[in-house]
Amino acid sequence: MKIICVGRNYAAHIEELDNEKPKDPVLFMKPDTSVLLKKQPFFIPEFSSDVHYEVEILVKIKKIGKHIDRKFAHKYYDEIGLGIDFTARDLQSKLKEKGLPWEKAKGFDGAAVIGNFIPKTAFESVDNIDFHLEKNGETVQQGNTAIMLWKIDELIEYISKYFTLKIGDIIFTGTPSGVGKVNPDDVLTGFIDSTEIFSIKVK
Ligand code: ZN
Repeated sequence: MKIICVGRNYAAHIEELDNEKPKDPVLFMKPDTSVLLKKQPFFIPEFSSDVHYEVEILVKIKKIGKHIDRKFAHKYYDEIGLGIDFTARDLQSKLKEKGLPWEKAKGFDGAAVIGNFIPKTAFESVDNIDFHLEKNGETVQQGNTAIMLWKIDELIEYISKYFTLKIGDIIFTGTPSGVGKVNPDDVLTGFIDSTEIFSIKVK
């Protein structure tokens, strides 16, 4: 199983990090060892003093495919989820400055929270899904898939030009604005509409 992540997919988040708007989606991967095990707390790694939460809509691939046309992309997934792309922002900034890959900042153990999945039939359109993240009961990030720069089916088309998608692969579709630092004892709870999808304790 692999995790393919999309960076810079929401205009307001690009602005808050002072990034350039990309011509193509920015892709990076997380290894399978980055998945935070169910019911486990997230431990802030000792190499960072500025770990950020990034709440993101997830897509679970159900069929092998490459060079998938966006017209047929909907046949490759049945379930939509929500997760967190934990990011050691201090380390990522250093790597970015030097033009180095981001893996150490985004692929470390526990950096991928994968919440529950909902059948896509529960939604009128996957391009109009409301989601938000609460930190200690207060909403810190809010998004809707309608404002993604690249929609889910376009992402599948783009990603599958480079990487064969396999059953069980998960796509992190990028974060909306409002990212911020986590501290010990924080509780992060993710929602699609008003349904709780995950709740994580930070240590
Ligand atoms: Zn992200």
